[in-house]
Amino acid sequence: MEAQLKAMRQEALRELEQITEIDTLTEIRVKYLGKKGQVTSMLRGLGQLDPSERPRMGQVVNEIRTELEECINAKREALKALELSHRLASERIDVTLPGRKPLIGHKHPLTLTLDRIKNTFMSMGFNVEEGPEVETDYFNFEALNLPKDHPARDMQDSFYITENILLRTHTSPVQARTLQATEPNKPIRIIVPGKVYRRDYDATHSPMFQQVEGLVVDKGIRFSDLKGTLELFIYEIFGSNVGVRFRPSFFPFTEPSAEVDISCVMCGGQGCRVCSSTGWLEILGSGTVHPRVLEMSGYDPNQVSGFAFGMGVERIAMLTYGIDDLRLFYENDMRFLRQF
Ligand SMILES: [Zn+2]
Repeated sequence: MEAQLKAMRQEALRELEQITEIDTLTEIRVKYLGKKGQVTSMLRGLGQLDPSERPRMGQVVNEIRTELEECINAKREALKALELSHRLASERIDVTLPGRKPLIGHKHPLTLTLDRIKNTFMSMGFNVEEGPEVETDYFNFEALNLPKDHPARDMQDSFYITENILLRTHTSPVQARTLQATEPNKPIRIIVPGKVYRRDYDATHSPMFQQVEGLVVDKGIRFSDLKGTLELFIYEIFGSNVGVRFRPSFFPFTEPSAEVDISCVMCGGQGCRVCSSTGWLEILGSGTVHPRVLEMSGYDPNQVSGFAFGMGVERIAMLTYGIDDLRLFYENDMRFLRQF
């Protein structure tokens, strides 16, 4: 029995030596000192020994038990200390490291452009109106003098939701909505910024883009008011050296209508790739509000008149920042966005 005890003691000490985790320490304690542990069963076995042997062997077993208990406790303390030092090392803060700057965003180039457009018109006394992006066929087309079979509807490839509901193809429906919500013949001076949708996608078209529409209605509004207002706007955005020209055009909701061009901001009017060698860039459409449009919304075209205009925010941003691909605005590429 004595040899057996010695072997057990050595085995236990060897196992203790190899332990690296506190959890395993508990397993060792159970294995040797637990109720069914090896040391405990040795103690029980003493009863089968010769009575003369019992006291001495009992003492040996007890010594081993005490020794193992002490060793286990010592090992536990050592492991705890080790764990603590590991944690201290891993959680150590190096105060000499450079700080991490939190990323602070900024306005998107389109928002910056829209802000400038809004501010310019607001300084001229315009209010900002908004309207729904999901629109009825009536407000998107009919109320703007575009009946069901009007050929100009073909110019706009629309996203229809049902036969009579679509994603608005322009911000113009807000014109009709505002006219109808205002007491007949009361003056109106609004701009309408917002997202519009058409089935187009290339370097200069996106299926979703942003427009700013403007509407002025009052007694005695003439084409010269339109010219003066838009020229002032253009000088404010592109600088007072830029050339401006009004070109006759057609829109169903204005009569007469004009496209507005500015001298090319890239080449100064000399002719380049951006202006297709013409020296001019088209930037907005405008015109005197068609009497039918006023009539349909309850205004009397004999008493009041007005003008309207519309422009693409992307186009204005591309020209002011010299961007040649509209898709860049919507790709969320930080290398592009950080430049503004
Ligand atoms: Zn040019």
